[in-house]
Amino acid sequence: MDRRKFFGAAMASTAAAGMVAAKDAKAQDAVARAARGMPSPKIRDVSVIECAPQGVRLTVVKVTTDQPGLYGYGCATYTQRADLVKPAVEKYIRPFLIGKPADRIEDTWQMLYNSSYWRNAADLNNAMSGVDQALWDIKGRQAGLPVYQLLGGKAREAIDTYGHASGSEIPEAIDAAKKYIAQGFRHVRIQVGVPGMAGYGSRAGGTRIPALHNAPVFEREGAKRRALALFEAARKELGPEIELLHDAHERYTPSEAVQLCKDLEQYRLFFLEDPLSPEDIMWFPNIRNQTSTPLAMGELFNSPHEWTPLIKDRLIDYMRMHISQMGGLTPARKVAAFGEIFNVRTAFHGPGDVSPIGHMAMTHLNLSITNFGIQEYSEMNDATREIFHGVPEMKNGYLWANDKPGWGMEIDEAAAAKHPFNRTDPMNGGWGEVRLPDGQIVKQ
Ligand code: MG
Repeated sequence: MDRRKFFGAAMASTAAAGMVAAKDAKAQDAVARAARGMPSPKIRDVSVIECAPQGVRLTVVKVTTDQPGLYGYGCATYTQRADLVKPAVEKYIRPFLIGKPADRIEDTWQMLYNSSYWRNAADLNNAMSGVDQALWDIKGRQAGLPVYQLLGGKAREAIDTYGHASGSEIPEAIDAAKKYIAQGFRHVRIQVGVPGMAGYGSRAGGTRIPALHNAPVFEREGAKRRALALFEAARKELGPEIELLHDAHERYTPSEAVQLCKDLEQYRLFFLEDPLSPEDIMWFPNIRNQTSTPLAMGELFNSPHEWTPLIKDRLIDYMRMHISQMGGLTPARKVAAFGEIFNVRTAFHGPGDVSPIGHMAMTHLNLSITNFGIQEYSEMNDATREIFHGVPEMKNGYLWANDKPGWGMEIDEAAAAKHPFNRTDPMNGGWGEVRLPDGQIVKQ
């Protein structure tokens, strides 16, 4: 090619590319200027949506702004004391927030946390959690981005989960585990009932053992022997590859917890959950120094500061944060980042008493962090999906978020109204007591 023609064509091509780039930059700049010029949304209303599509009482906070169509949702569920959350939102948080900017999430969290003077009340934490997640939803909707993008973007494609396999008898629990494995799950939590006793995470089996009262009975040594028999059978039947988890549900004494962890070593658990109660966390070094069984802890923590001793001394492997209890996404991401420094991984508490909005909030944080460990999975029925649109989707044991702005979810409030709390329940959704054979209360 003629030298002049070659350079002429190249220059023309460069000029054309330059014009396109300039046009793109101009368009991007116009969008950026429009967004920068957008007035800060102000909070117009804070309301509560309550429903129980699976029998479990769910509470969601909706924050509405003064910008048309700009609102957000957050999970505020506290199923055991559900009726306390609505007045906490309506009588204390709503008046405080009306007219305040919806785009100052950290500032709002600190205002709410400090303005009650006494911190870490469970029901106020739920209310704060709902508002906090709703503000993140609003921020995402305003930016036109899913929240995980606001958190830095994806660090993984989808969220690995574990399902709950349980039974009154050991074969029943193992069959339940096989069903999860057949669906592609790589992790399963297994629990079994104890004959004559109130189990945890399973139905009780057989005749009740003699007791000096009429409450459900729990007896530690029998439960421990039963758990070990379950894992012996599970490893024989399920093989070495499946990751197995178990929840001790804070029911053992510190010395029993050490022994249980040591006895379970041969079955190579993915983790043992809540070997001790929150009141006994100073015993964790004792367990840690004597066993290689991985430890998960924290679903009952209210304050983000409760994590500090366990993380800084590397006494646990997994953080069981409950996003509707600890104050929302804002403290959850801080604790997760703190854990990353010490190589402690996340294992968010994900039972049925976290609403689908809360499950999605956990999914977005899980997507964006490096120290993700595992996610507890709860199945959602058709009634739940009729109310909550855009729930995290399950495929082969992995949860997937959608790519819509905010949480990518909407709530059908008319459908929610069709599933009110059960007002005939004598406990009003609360849990009953569990006792030792002599009548002493057992932690749960
Ligand atoms: Mg648990």
